[in-house]
Amino acid sequence: MATRITQAEMSATQAEATREVVSYDPATGEEVGRVPLFATEDVARAVARARAAQKGWGALGFRERARVLMRARAFVLEEMDEIARLIARESGKPAAEAIAMEIVPTLDLMQFFARKTARLLRPERIDIGLYRFLGRTSTVEYRPLGVVAVISPWNFPWAIPLGEVVMALMAGNAVVLKPSELTPFVALKIGEVLARAGLPAGALEIVTGDGSTGAALTEAGVDKIMFTGSVATGRRVAEAAARKLIPVVLELGGKDPMIVFEDADLEAASSAAVWGAFANSGQACASVERCYVHERVADDFTARVVEKVLALRQAVGTEEGADLGAMSSERQLRTVEEHLREAVARGACVLTGGGRARGLPEGGAFHEPTVLTGVDHSMTIMREETFGPALPVMTFRDEDEAVRLANDSPFGLTASVWTRDIRRGRRVASEIEAGTVMVNEVLYTHGIAQTPWGGVKQSGLGRTHGRLGLLELVAPHHVHVNRLAFLGDVWWFNYTPGAASLFHSLARRFATGSLLQALLLSPQMLRRLRERKGQSSGRKK
Ligand code: NDP
Repeated sequence: MATRITQAEMSATQAEATREVVSYDPATGEEVGRVPLFATEDVARAVARARAAQKGWGALGFRERARVLMRARAFVLEEMDEIARLIARESGKPAAEAIAMEIVPTLDLMQFFARKTARLLRPERIDIGLYRFLGRTSTVEYRPLGVVAVISPWNFPWAIPLGEVVMALMAGNAVVLKPSELTPFVALKIGEVLARAGLPAGALEIVTGDGSTGAALTEAGVDKIMFTGSVATGRRVAEAAARKLIPVVLELGGKDPMIVFEDADLEAASSAAVWGAFANSGQACASVERCYVHERVADDFTARVVEKVLALRQAVGTEEGADLGAMSSERQLRTVEEHLREAVARGACVLTGGGRARGLPEGGAFHEPTVLTGVDHSMTIMREETFGPALPVMTFRDEDEAVRLANDSPFGLTASVWTRDIRRGRRVASEIEAGTVMVNEVLYTHGIAQTPWGGVKQSGLGRTHGRLGLLELVAPHHVHVNRLAFLGDVWWFNYTPGAASLFHSLARRFATGSLLQALLLSPQMLRRLRERKGQSSGRKK
């Protein structure tokens, strides 16, 4: 059934947009509905409305803001099944998985940031070393940035934007959210739930549209851009942000390795590989995209993986019992086909899957979960993000080779290491170039609100989630107080010979940070203070 959003469901600005974007169910090809396509002027008006609303919202205390978010959380809990069905329809993923991977983590994130943001952003007294003996103190307060733009992808259309919106709002910002053109209705549901919970009009503006809408938002004078998406678009967003000199957080792609050592629990590791590679049809930035297994256990591990993949049920995401749904778009499915075709042409061996899934709705973007061996790093499937249900498995001989293979990638989002020896796990983890390395786990730490999320190399810049993520959404405001202003500072004018000599001593003693060394300077400091007093009383006469 097609949906056309009503005037009541749109923000005032949305009603102004004249062109439309159509959202389709990728499992059936049916139209889900139509939303306005925001042009440049519409986006500018949304940003202006957000800026006007931010003043009042930012002036509320943490407790008031938390109250709104906890009310919204209660609505999400009540309407969980309806929301999960909407996510399944727009993205193709199973509704049960939408609950597990999108709704549960955001319910947790909402309570965490509602309850803890005040503490996480408490003003801090800074240890300023020897300067405190000169009667000074420094504190840092964390202030809202103003208007934060959130630009989000289609693969986790609820969890990614809602998480960033909640954190930005709790920090006192207003938000303008640009969802993917593939999943606008999920984003509008976020807006609706927050509005019903009492979020003031304008504090969250949702600008639906396509890439042109996202580009317009980067030019619209926001104070920060939180972008999640591909490397290519991320680079364009960073260029636009650089022209405007606004900060940006980029959560980009991944090609995440999983290393399975010979002492790993193979039963657990094989189940984790199957889930890590095929959850959301492999369309997660932290999906297991490369699996490296010690040669001694490779056959056993691979046989277990294949057996588990064969037991997966692929169906329309809204059907009960579906493990895998459709991919989110035909375009994404074609990327998977291309990577597989090239790998097979170069000698890879398909153990299971390998093509479009049959017996499912005609026109649906279903691809079978596919396990490959005989792969190497010359193949695109081991180098570029496939972002689909493909699990290439390669063997290694020793720890050094495993680390070298894992790090041989332009990406560095997450990685996982499987071993019963936790010390070895930590040692290998410390050598892997990634934002997050899990020992005996895969994929899921985006779901932990307390831990930082973000990558190195081409996987991005900055962090979301946890305190580090919250700090991306505030401006540190440093206040420095001098309680001994009547003394004046020894480094002020005039630069007499006595002053110059003291500066040399400061370099040698004060700048060591040692109190003892600084105390040795006392006579020279006192002489300089007397000299300065003399200079100023001389000027008065
Ligand atoms: P895209 O980069 O295509 O799009 C991301 C968002 O940017 C969408 O809302 C898109 O709008 C918008 N956009 C497109 N062009 C522009 C532009 N010129 N200026 C500003 N915004 C623009 O990514 P996908 O949606 O295809 O998402 C998949 C990618 O996201 C993968 O590479 C994946 O790894 C990455 N990702 C990273 C995560 C992380 O945490 N590191 C998490 C999830 C995904 P529209 O869709 O309407 O074109």
